[in-house]
Amino acid sequence: MSLGSFASAGIDSKRRAAPLPRPIADMKTFSPDSSIASDVIPSPNYGERNKGRLPDMILLHYTGMPDVEGAIAQLCTAGTDVSAHYIVLEDGRIVQCVPEAKRAWHAGVASWAGEDDINSCSIGVEIVNRGHDWGYPEYPLRQIAAVIALCRGIMLRRNVPSHRVLAHSDVAPSRKKDPGEKFPWHSLANSGVGHWVQPAPIGRGEGLKSGTISDGVRDLQQALARYGYGIAISGKYDAATTEVVTAFQRHFRTTRVDGVADHSTLVTLQSLLASLPSEAAAVAAR
Ligand SMILES: [Zn+2]
Repeated sequence: MSLGSFASAGIDSKRRAAPLPRPIADMKTFSPDSSIASDVIPSPNYGERNKGRLPDMILLHYTGMPDVEGAIAQLCTAGTDVSAHYIVLEDGRIVQCVPEAKRAWHAGVASWAGEDDINSCSIGVEIVNRGHDWGYPEYPLRQIAAVIALCRGIMLRRNVPSHRVLAHSDVAPSRKKDPGEKFPWHSLANSGVGHWVQPAPIGRGEGLKSGTISDGVRDLQQALARYGYGIAISGKYDAATTEVVTAFQRHFRTTRVDGVADHSTLVTLQSLLASLPSEAAAVAAR
C-alpha cells in the first residue's frame, strides 16, 4: 500500500513505480524538512545531537543491499541501530526517516577535520544502490538529480558549505567504500553541490606507495589532514595511508583507485586545497 494517504508531503502518485513499505503503526510520523521528500517512514533509530551541535555536513552513502525493501527495513526498524535522515530511491523519490534536528545513526566510527562525532554534525543521505558487494550498478540520472535537489535544499537551509558534502568513505576510509567511485561527484559540483576540481591527468612516473618512508609521504599526509581526512602524520606510507588515498581517489580521481599517490593524485589534492574557501583553509591549517 502507498504511503500517500498519511504522509504529509505533496505526492505525485501517478509516477509511483512501486509501493513503499508501511511504517510501523505506532511510530509517530512528522512533517518532512525537505519540500521534495514525498514520503515519511519514521525510524526509531535516532537520538539528540550532542551539545546541541547544529549540522553543517551532508554525508552521502549507498545502501549496499540487494533490494530497496531490505534497505528501508534496516534503516527504519528498532534494534538495527542504524538510520539516516533521507533515503533516495533509484526512481528519484525521496523518503525522510529521521527529522533533521535529530541525530541519525549512519556514520559509525568516523572522523573529519578533527571531529569524530560525525552523526552529531551531519545529515545522512542513503542512496539506494546495491553497492560493491552486489554488482555495483551505475546511479540512474534521475536518482542523481534528486540527490542534487535534496542537497541543495539542505545546504541552503542549514548553511552547509560545499566542501562539507562528503562520502561515507571520506570519514571512515578503513571501513567504507560508499557511495563509491561510480558516484558522479562532478555532476553534483556542476550543480553547486560539493567541492570538486577536474582531476589532473594520469601520467607516467612512480609516485608514492605503500612502504615508502620519506618527507614526501609526510607532506602527503599533512595535505590529506589539512583537507579533513583523519590520518596520522608519520612519514611512513602505512596501511592507513593507503586506505585514505584510496578514499580520496574514490571521490576525487576515480579513473584509477589503487591507493598509490601518483602524480595525478598529488596534483589533484593540491588543487583542491588551493580552491578551498579561505575560511575553510584557515581551519585546515590549524
Ligand atoms: Zn555508508
